Amino acid sequence: MTTKKPTTSEKRGIHTILILFFCQFAFAQITTTEIDVSPALDKLTGYIQTIYFSPGQDQRAKSIADLMENAAEFFQQEIGFTPKTNMFVLSPNHWKAFAAPPLRETYGFPHNADKEKLVIAAEDNDFWRSFLPQVDKLPDHLALEVRKAYGKEDGSYSMMPFFDLLALHEMGHSYTSQAGLRMHRNWMSELFVNIMLHTFIAEKQNERLPALQTFPNMVIGAGSSDYKYTNLADFEALYPTLGMGPKNYGWYQCRLHSAAKDVYNNGGKAVLQKLWKAMLKHQEDMTDEELIDMLENEVHPSVAQVFQNWDKTP
Ligand SMILES: [Zn+2]
Repeated sequence: MTTKKPTTSEKRGIHTILILFFCQFAFAQITTTEIDVSPALDKLTGYIQTIYFSPGQDQRAKSIADLMENAAEFFQQEIGFTPKTNMFVLSPNHWKAFAAPPLRETYGFPHNADKEKLVIAAEDNDFWRSFLPQVDKLPDHLALEVRKAYGKEDGSYSMMPFFDLLALHEMGHSYTSQAGLRMHRNWMSELFVNIMLHTFIAEKQNERLPALQTFPNMVIGAGSSDYKYTNLADFEALYPTLGMGPKNYGWYQCRLHSAAKDVYNNGGKAVLQKLWKAMLKHQEDMTDEELIDMLENEVHPSVAQVFQNWDKTP
């Protein structure tokens, strides 16, 4: 038995329905969430996105909200879509109440809990610090980069300038899920939002490039011997349950940030538009070969190379 494949115009119809569905879904959720968070959290007004924050974290919430707002303008221009999200900027005492269940014990692990609920930390924390190697043991050029990007006046380091940018990574997941894109692979869903993040920062806020690039350089530069899992097949299998653990997951993310940088440096901002269109169009199941072929022909060879060269890169 064969099933008739939908025509392009039928597919467009399906996508429109999906987008509407997700918008309505998001709207219903927002109403519920607004009731739930009161009175524990405060709320910022005057922004496209809804931002809740732990009392006392006004400045942190505003600076993250400004970044999100600028990014939303850029993405609207580039890909013609803006999702509706609720962002939670939390102090440690509110983390457990609002974080997704598998991450309640890991303060600082940024995540997108359910298509529209983004959870990020307001304060520096042990999880962020756990990635910092002994800076004096890094090669000179890398140690200098780390001091410039994350060094504080008292000689210590804070990864906050990097992790704050991950608010955009998390918002990226709301773009792809609410617009009904099919990501095909778990690594692609993460690479995609890192390409969004890297493209925006490189195009519009390149003064933040050191904060974005140094952290992955540092983690990858420290080697992979501390990590049990390093190949993409393991990432695919362990992703749904975070079975590799938060730290090992962070290493994978660093590789995917670095890959997003390579994609942007090879293909420029046009790759983001092409990848968006391709993932919206290709809702069918794809084998690895079909996916790679499509990426090479419809998007850019550098995106296919992330998969092809993963295990070749040290
Ligand atoms: Zn992600």
